[in-house]
Amino acid sequence: MTDWRDDLPDVRGKLLLDQPLAPYTWFRVGGPADALFLPKDEDDLAAFLKALPEEVPVHFMGVASNSIIRDGGIEGVTIRLMGGYWGSVEPTGSHSLFARAGALDLAVAKASAKHGISGLTFLSGIPGSIGGAVRTNAGCYGRELKDVANQIEGITRSGEKVRFEAEIAQYGDPKIDFSYRHSNFPDDVIVTGILLTGSGDGDPDALQAEIADHQARRAETQPIKDKTGGSTFANPDPPGTPDARSSWKLVDAAGCRGLRVGGAQVSEKHCNFLINTEDATAADIEALGELVRARVLDVTGVDLRWEIRRIGRIQTKV
Ligand SMILES: Cc1cc2nc3c(=O)[nH]c(=O)nc-3n(C[C@H](O)[C@H](O)[C@H](O)COP(=O)(O)OP(=O)(O)OC[C@H]3O[C@@H](n4cnc5c(N)ncnc54)[C@H](O)[C@@H]3O)c2cc1C
Repeated sequence: MTDWRDDLPDVRGKLLLDQPLAPYTWFRVGGPADALFLPKDEDDLAAFLKALPEEVPVHFMGVASNSIIRDGGIEGVTIRLMGGYWGSVEPTGSHSLFARAGALDLAVAKASAKHGISGLTFLSGIPGSIGGAVRTNAGCYGRELKDVANQIEGITRSGEKVRFEAEIAQYGDPKIDFSYRHSNFPDDVIVTGILLTGSGDGDPDALQAEIADHQARRAETQPIKDKTGGSTFANPDPPGTPDARSSWKLVDAAGCRGLRVGGAQVSEKHCNFLINTEDATAADIEALGELVRARVLDVTGVDLRWEIRRIGRIQTKV
């Protein structure tokens, strides 16, 4: 039987077969990608997608700070836009920046401070890539990506370059619908770059201080030094709901703080975070999440929804 991987298109970046993905994830778990593509630049990516047979599944990942990659690995081609070319962040005027998709949110926040652009420092609280932030409408401290996203560039599964004129996108925008920690950005488009707009009245030192303050608050309240995936469950009520319920309070009320399955544990510091204490598998982490959901449902009647994306094949035991 022929392997679809024998006929992969030529690339200028790297194309790695059976590449372990765990080292690329925050949880440090998960199996290999059938093929991992690290494109050199946009043209390399577009040409590859154009030439790749349409039946080959394609998945996108950033730094997997919001993902559990299952132990059986990911079928098809996984594409990751990190490092070098993909990490650039450049000012495009007095109050906007263009960031390529692999730029870390923290790097975008730091660049905004350097150039005196206010309104973007909230990104320093999010440990993902700016491409991942589009998909998850990442946010904190009262701001979200939708408040600052102006134009989003991407490449479709068939290799066509596209641009979304989002203006300052709002909930309900007909082109890209952003909602709490989610967007309906098309599944078959990989984000390659984003124009972010703040305002040009910022003092670089004050903006740097804002970043330091956000980071100190994070370190105090979240297990950021652990192997984790951020908030596990979405809060059940939309933002702005009076008396909104928090997932962490429900998890705590169900007695799950510190609960363990194998090497996975509910964080003692923040119980909406699951952590890999040492040698957890993806299956341990997912099973722990499901156990927490079942207990919360039993005790509080609330059916929590996973905020973390789970992707890949479940490993079958032999
Ligand atoms: C300690 C910790 C704290 C966190 N705090 C916050 C917080 O305060 N607020 C918050 O919103 N999130 C938070 N998160 C979650 C996470 O950082 C965000 O969801 C982040 O935006 C995910 O980015 P990523 O690059 O890690 O994406 P991944 O986890 O790699 O992927 C997430 C989704 O984005 C898609 N994706 C990734 N890159 C692209 C691309 N280039 N084009 C198209 N789709 C793409 C993936 O296919 C997937 O569907 C936290 C996580 C951790 C570990």
